[in-house]
Amino acid sequence: MSLIVQKFGGSSVSDAESIKRVAKRIVDTKRAGHDVVVAVSAMGDTTDELTDLAHEISPMPDPREFDMLLTTGERISMALLAMAIKSMGFDARSYTGSQAGMITDSRHGDARIVDVTPVRVREALDQGAIAIVAGFQGFNRDSRDITTLGRGGSDTTAVALAAALKADVCEIYTDVDGVFTADPRMVKKAHKLNHVSSEEMLELAAAGAKVLHIRAVEYARRQNVTLHVRSSFSNDEGTIVYNPDRAKEFEMEDPTIAGVAHDLSEAKITVTGVPDVPGKAAKIFTLVAGQGANIDMIVQNVSAVSTGATDISFTLPKADAAKCMQTLEAHKDEIGFEALRHDDQIGKVSLVGSGMRTNAGVSAQLFEALAEAGINIDLISTSEIRISIVVRADIVPEATRVIHTAFGLDSDSDAVVYAGTGR
Ligand code: ASP
Ligand code: MG
Repeated sequence: MSLIVQKFGGSSVSDAESIKRVAKRIVDTKRAGHDVVVAVSAMGDTTDELTDLAHEISPMPDPREFDMLLTTGERISMALLAMAIKSMGFDARSYTGSQAGMITDSRHGDARIVDVTPVRVREALDQGAIAIVAGFQGFNRDSRDITTLGRGGSDTTAVALAAALKADVCEIYTDVDGVFTADPRMVKKAHKLNHVSSEEMLELAAAGAKVLHIRAVEYARRQNVTLHVRSSFSNDEGTIVYNPDRAKEFEMEDPTIAGVAHDLSEAKITVTGVPDVPGKAAKIFTLVAGQGANIDMIVQNVSAVSTGATDISFTLPKADAAKCMQTLEAHKDEIGFEALRHDDQIGKVSLVGSGMRTNAGVSAQLFEALAEAGINIDLISTSEIRISIVVRADIVPEATRVIHTAFGLDSDSDAVVYAGTGR
């Protein structure tokens, strides 16, 4: 007998019918002789709807009350799911994040888990019951308030439970068959990976792949939890996300390239005519960091001989661009730059694969393919196992497909997408 944590996302529990379907899946696992703990997201688009509602009341909802509101979404789905399981003759108990011992720091809207004390979950398991835990939420000991883990945080709830309970596997159920070589909504010929290393998965998630929440992947890697990403709409095996200790089992069969991810959530700011002297970049990025903006790519040009000035471009989340532009503008004289430019019609496409470490010529092959397709590259950045390019936003689907084909990732058949949202 093993202990399995299962996470079901919003699109898997979007109405009464799907909640019953998920309940059946959970019961099947229990029948097969396993202990089951479930982390569940809010039904369908509930979290978005609650967010809209809050903004109708106030343009800047109070953070404490906003968390209080959003966590109700998961309370609805957990209770309904427990009812559905009970009506099938199995014992089930739902718990809020705080009842399940999800202890977080006090950051409303983006809290980090600091401790997990799932005493009641354990008790439920010991008594033969299935434990259903509300995803995406926790409790801060000092403020004694309810917190949320940030959008998409139910994955992290599941991983944290799996780590604390020493589960054998953490299954993340979603609306596609697993982790694909590209978003199957954009690239029809994408194929499912049977396994991917957590290192590659981290890069894919950071590069915009939405199938797993990046913090959940980080948590799983840190706590050595094996993830199994699979569809709640089929019984097929999904994708195993494995940690270094299991590399021997999987690595030999892994291809050079894991996949192509895309990201349309970023904007680009260019600071032109920056004096090329020590301290200017420090000043610029200290100001940007002060706005809480997470910088992704940074590119600095060679300075012009005639002016001794250079241009610095960087990408950041679209939502953070306006306030960063304002702060930089306010410090224009102090930094001594010429002008600021803002561009939110950009997109990023990234090729990820740990085989890049040992294979020369991957970037040449990528640039060649893009050149042949007449695609112009704006920025380039690389890590040991990733090459990212920035192109015009409307070119992203084409660039993604071109790269996918160039690296031999196309499958013979079209990928199946069971539901609409990607979560
Ligand atoms: N319901 C939350 C959201 O939509 C958490 C989650 O789905 O993981 O972001
Ligand atoms: Mg959701």
